[in-house]
Parts: sequence; structure tokens; C-alpha cells
Amino acid sequence: MISNNENSLTRKAYAKINLALDVIRRREDGYHEVRMIMQTVDLYDVLTFIKTSSPGITVVTDKEGLPGDESNLIYKAVRLIMENYPVHQGVRIELEKRIPMAAGMAGGSTDAAAVFHGLNELFGLGMSENEMCALGVKIGADVPYCIQGGTALSEGIGEVLTKLEDAPPCYVLIAKPDIDVSTKYVYENLRVDKLDRHPDIDGMRAAIGEGDLHKMTGYMENVLETVTAAAYPVIGEIKDFMKDRGALNALMSGSGPTVFGIFEREEEARKAYAELKEAFLADQIFVSEWVSGKKAYEDRNRA
Ligand code: ATP
Repeated sequence: MISNNENSLTRKAYAKINLALDVIRRREDGYHEVRMIMQTVDLYDVLTFIKTSSPGITVVTDKEGLPGDESNLIYKAVRLIMENYPVHQGVRIELEKRIPMAAGMAGGSTDAAAVFHGLNELFGLGMSENEMCALGVKIGADVPYCIQGGTALSEGIGEVLTKLEDAPPCYVLIAKPDIDVSTKYVYENLRVDKLDRHPDIDGMRAAIGEGDLHKMTGYMENVLETVTAAAYPVIGEIKDFMKDRGALNALMSGSGPTVFGIFEREEEARKAYAELKEAFLADQIFVSEWVSGKKAYEDRNRA
């Protein structure tokens, strides 16, 4: 895609949304066992990987408040790869941040996933996707899914992935209100034992298999709304706003606060986008489409 030579390459790192998100239980080790239907959307960060003659890791970001130091998931992914694979040179990674942060769109995880693909290619490491996922889960539960992309069922703590049929095509209005939500806070405040309903993940999976958009959207549900949407009423307001303007359904993604609405027709999504801008309920708004597993794969492998 963007550029590629033997000393550098540039790649997209796509965001995800959760079409459905269920939490089954809290494990003794503190991790939560989940069942989620994941979907890649056409909203992405751009990472440039450059070999350097001096050893070491340099990460440079264009985003104020996101340092390239050891706390950055890009840095963590490079270090983990270097500890496990023979990389004999240094690397500089430049990040162009476009995905809303602390938003429930796996912005950090997808950057880490892009590092696995990027270094694998740049240094010819020969890592299989399974090997990348096994290392990637040490960085974050969503990293294996981001390594794979497309439509998928994610189980366990996020490391058990099943590829699904591509979700039926549609237009997705994505809106992030001006609040930052910590994933850790949301999971810590989730009362799994008190949930009075759970999404029908298998129902959604079947609807996707049938390519039935209406049926699929009928199954959209996210148990983390019980924490985040309860704390921030703007989430419910944005959902209602989208549904009032023709969205088949609208839902919070991940731990929030980003909300997405599914539209059958592009004009409707664009009209709702314009009206939402005027309403000042969200500060970052996008009209997007799905990215299939095949497209995500091709993007990674195209020079
Ligand atoms: P998820 O959906 O996986 O819970 P999120 O979208 O809620 O993720 P992120 O944007 O991935 O949240 O980031 C959460 C925090 O992680 C940020 O506030 C930031 O401090 C830290 N972080 C570290 N590296 C990155 C990165 N490369 N991009 C974004 N955030 C990062």
C-alpha cells in the first residue's frame, strides 16, 4: 500500500468495533472471560517502520499526550519481538494517530498488531499468524484479533479466535463523545453476577452466516454499557439520536464511550453525520464501512 522498500515500510492499523460483547465470568486471575463479535472498520492509524543502523527502539508519535516511551504499546510489541526473534538492527517507528484514543476501538492494540506484521516483514522473521497471536496476547487481549482482522468471534480472554463470514455490508456512523474511558475502570466496575441479560452471540453469528443485516443488528448488545452508559448519559443520547435518524441499531463499542450506528444507505448515514456534528454530542465523528479479513490481509501484503 503506502510505501515499501527494504529499509522501510508503511502500513495501516485498522480500528475495530464490537458488534456484540458478552462477559461470561471473572477468572481467579482477574481476567474476564468474554464472547465478542469483532469487526474491523475503515478507520486507521498509519505506522512507518524504518531500519536504523544503531541498535535500539525509537517510537515517535504525532499525538500530544501519547508518548513514544516504554508505556506505548508499539514500544512494548517491538521489545517483545526482539526478545523472542533475531532482530540484529534497531528500528524507528513513526505513528500517525487517527483512531480516537481511550475510545473502545482498540487503537493501542491495533498499533501493537501492526508492529507484529511490520517487523515480521521488515526483518524477514518468518512468524506465522499463530506465533504472532501467542506473543501478542501478552500485550493485550484484543491484540490477537487485531493481528487477524475481519469479522471474528473472540472468546477466552480474547485469544480464542474463530473467523466468521464477512458481516453484511452497510454504512457505520461512529461517534466518540468528549470523554475518556479507561477499559480497566469499566471491567473493575462490571458486576457479572448481577447482569440480568446477555447478548445472543450465537444468534448474531447465525445472522452473519445468513448475510442478514436486519437480523444481525437485532442482536447488537454490549454488557459493558451497564457500567459506561450508566455513568455517561451522553452514550444513550447518541444511540437514540442515531436510531431516530434511521440507524437499524446503535451500540457502544468495547468499554466505550464510542457509539456506532448501522445504516443501510450511505445518504442516511451522511445526513445523520451532518446532524450529529450540529448537535455537539460527540467531538470525533466518522462515516465508515467494514474492512473484510481479506482486505486487511491484502493491505498488509501489498507493497
Ligand atoms: P480497547 O478497545 O482495546 O479497550 P481503547 O480504544 O479503549 O482500547 P486505546 O486507545 O487503545 O484504548 O488506549 C488506551 C490507553 O493506552 C491510552 O489512553 C494510552 O495511554 C495507552 N496507549 C499506549 N500505547 C498506545 C497507542 N499506541 N495508541 C493508543 N493508546 C496507547
